[in-house]
Amino acid sequence: MPKPGSVELREYDLPTPQPGALLIETVAAGVCGSDVHMFADKHPLKSIVLGHEVIGRVVDPSTRPTDSAGAELAPGDLVSVVYFAFCQHCRQCQAGRTHLCENSYNHWIASPDDFPHFTGTFGTHYYVGRFQHVFKVPDNVDPLAAVSANCALAQVSAGIDRGKVKSGDTVVIQGAGGLGLWGVAVAKERGAHVVVVDAVQRRLDAAKAFGADATVSFDDAPEAADRIARVRELTDGGADVALELTGVGSAVPEGIEMVRPGATYIEIGNVMPGVEITLDIGSMTRRAVTIHPVIRYHQRFLKAGLEFISRNVGKLPFDKLVDATYPLDDVLQAMEDSKARKVNRAALVMAR
Ligand SMILES: [Zn+2]
Ligand SMILES: [Zn+2]
Repeated sequence: MPKPGSVELREYDLPTPQPGALLIETVAAGVCGSDVHMFADKHPLKSIVLGHEVIGRVVDPSTRPTDSAGAELAPGDLVSVVYFAFCQHCRQCQAGRTHLCENSYNHWIASPDDFPHFTGTFGTHYYVGRFQHVFKVPDNVDPLAAVSANCALAQVSAGIDRGKVKSGDTVVIQGAGGLGLWGVAVAKERGAHVVVVDAVQRRLDAAKAFGADATVSFDDAPEAADRIARVRELTDGGADVALELTGVGSAVPEGIEMVRPGATYIEIGNVMPGVEITLDIGSMTRRAVTIHPVIRYHQRFLKAGLEFISRNVGKLPFDKLVDATYPLDDVLQAMEDSKARKVNRAALVMAR
């Protein structure tokens, strides 16, 4: 993406991986909300090799013989990659907070004209740097089912873990997009009672297919006060944990009113700087509600996410996650359809 709103396919020689790095052949790459933000000029980055969600095949593992869990890698193995890096020398990495690494995106925002060129996943290949984690995809997992595992699934799993969701908890999920559907599935597996709030009925239907116990639609409850009342009704006075997965600022004050005293509010969706909201801090304090913003994740959540998909093959409708696929040549169409919300979740499919 040389500038927002435009894309250009460029050709480069394949890089020879440095020790610890790994070149993969891209099988599929998901179009994420943040890619669309960049394309729509609603993101600080104005020029980038697009794409961070990916499933790919190992080309030559000689520079990186094992994945991050120690499993041996062979040519052709399907892998998923933590899209950000842990530099290991910044203050956050040194303190063990690797998911907060201050250099997490340096490899990604580099110019494609410089080595290793293949820094985003919207390409025939993707260069996995030595500070990026990589995990083998279990044999029974379809690449399209796992294409958003390294972003949406791992991210929402980290949020659910941060919220300490446990069996018997009531969980409200705001937003039934890519993050929300995974959120429903993961919270259900933990034994929670899950209520999903969204404006679009077909997204709520998908949430039900992923196990949501109840849904609240904007059609039935057009005002925030109605939705708050409905969720409180469905959760015996307020949820134990809420997750904001909409990326809409106004969802936050609304969601905070949907939880019980002492509850945890997990903020994930609003990641663009400049989103300002008005909060009733008095109501929050009186009810001792805690807000936990969550950004990026520990690599174990990706490994766990891939295993989650593997044990739920045939049980969850993973084919509902991606509703439009495009060849790499049609990347502009994929971006425009996503921006216009003609599709929920697009993916580029390069090879199978
Ligand atoms: Zn993403
Ligand atoms: Zn670091």
